[in-house]
Amino acid sequence: MSDEVARLRETVAGLHAELVRYNLVAWTSGNVSARVPGRDLMVIKPSGVSYDDLRPDNMVVCDLDGVVVEGDLAPSSDTAAHAYVYRAMPDVGGVVHTHSGYATAWAACGQAIPCHLTAQADEFGGEIPLGPFALIGGDDIGKGIVATLSGHRSPAVLMRNHGVFTIGRTAKAAVKAAVMCEDVARTAYLARTLGEPAPIAAEHVDSLHARYQNVYGQPTVPSARR
Ligand SMILES: [Zn+2]
Repeated sequence: MSDEVARLRETVAGLHAELVRYNLVAWTSGNVSARVPGRDLMVIKPSGVSYDDLRPDNMVVCDLDGVVVEGDLAPSSDTAAHAYVYRAMPDVGGVVHTHSGYATAWAACGQAIPCHLTAQADEFGGEIPLGPFALIGGDDIGKGIVATLSGHRSPAVLMRNHGVFTIGRTAKAAVKAAVMCEDVARTAYLARTLGEPAPIAAEHVDSLHARYQNVYGQPTVPSARR
């Protein structure tokens, strides 16, 4: 087992605790994966294992066709979707899937989340789009994710009648997008109950997104770069 795979087993196991902490998952639903840089491999959650029992050594390593190459347990039932995304989107280093409640309510109604909040413009660059209905198994979910997010600024897609898939340069970035997607979905829902949320002008969405993606946060110093 390479050092890189060992490091990613630890990272991916640890990031699953964030899904629990932010109340994005129930029972064993939801999963995180990470691409192994420079190799056609990914590290993903095992299927059907309680969040309390997830550890670095029971994460599963698969190739990018979803075939297990290292690990004693079956990988997540969403492995084919993660693998499809990694094959089709070379810049993606992490994928997350949840059925988080507010975001999935929008998916159940077949509605994209319009951009009514500056925080949404920051993270998603506009609406959070709706992807197609697709049955689990095979490549249909992966195809729907890639078709919806290709050329879109949003790192999150609401798969119709199903739930949320997010992508990121790293698994941590994809987890952050899943947390922010649920936060935005919740606030947008609350706003709808009060009245008709006001849109943000497209040029303001563009400038908010550019600022957040390029300027926001602490100055990068070599010791803090991860
Ligand atoms: Zn699902």
